[in-house]
Amino acid sequence: MARARRIQSEVIGVDSHIDTLQRVLMEKVDIGNVCLMARWTCRVCARRHARAVFALWVPTFYKGAEAIRRMLDLRDAVQSVFDRYPGEIELATTAADVERIVRAHKIAAILTLESGHEIDDDLAVLRMFHRLGIRSMTLTHFRNNNWADSSTDKPQHNGLTEFGKDVVREMNRIGMIVDISHVSDKTFTIRWPSPTKPVIASHSSCRALSSLPAI
Ligand SMILES: [Zn+2]
Repeated sequence: MARARRIQSEVIGVDSHIDTLQRVLMEKVDIGNVCLMARWTCRVCARRHARAVFALWVPTFYKGAEAIRRMLDLRDAVQSVFDRYPGEIELATTAADVERIVRAHKIAAILTLESGHEIDDDLAVLRMFHRLGIRSMTLTHFRNNNWADSSTDKPQHNGLTEFGKDVVREMNRIGMIVDISHVSDKTFTIRWPSPTKPVIASHSSCRALSSLPAI
């Protein structure tokens, strides 16, 4: 425990995947009182995790334009939290934002898309989502989409199609982090377009310890 406390004090703690926005949108839950103070308190050091990645998750049964609309509804829901609690939480779109917001003792909220079908196979939609403050995207969720294979579906695209590689390139170019949670092994082990910026696995297990797919 002492070692855990020491490590915790030396590194930046980030809760890298939070699904709570579903409750804000669908149940109209006021997470300000319930969660902002409690949910992100670290059990090891009892400090608040001041950087949090909120997922704008759209189930894969939302297709095409409906998936885009659903994402916009979630973006609006998280905006309602920002607007209601400006002294507690703020949107972070750059590393400098994170440092500034944390120095002000607020939660720096980073927004991510889950999953790639939300862009409706359109790089223009991806770019506009970036303009709405989204800074990462898991390429898939439980099902394959039209350009990437999921870890919980049958292989269909040999990992990533040519358009899928275009998506990765565009994310690299505009400044969105590629999240490989939920994708098949092939999707992230094939030859990627270069140069490729670092990727993250925001909510995946270490297979040697726990061989479970992301949820
Ligand atoms: Zn997930």
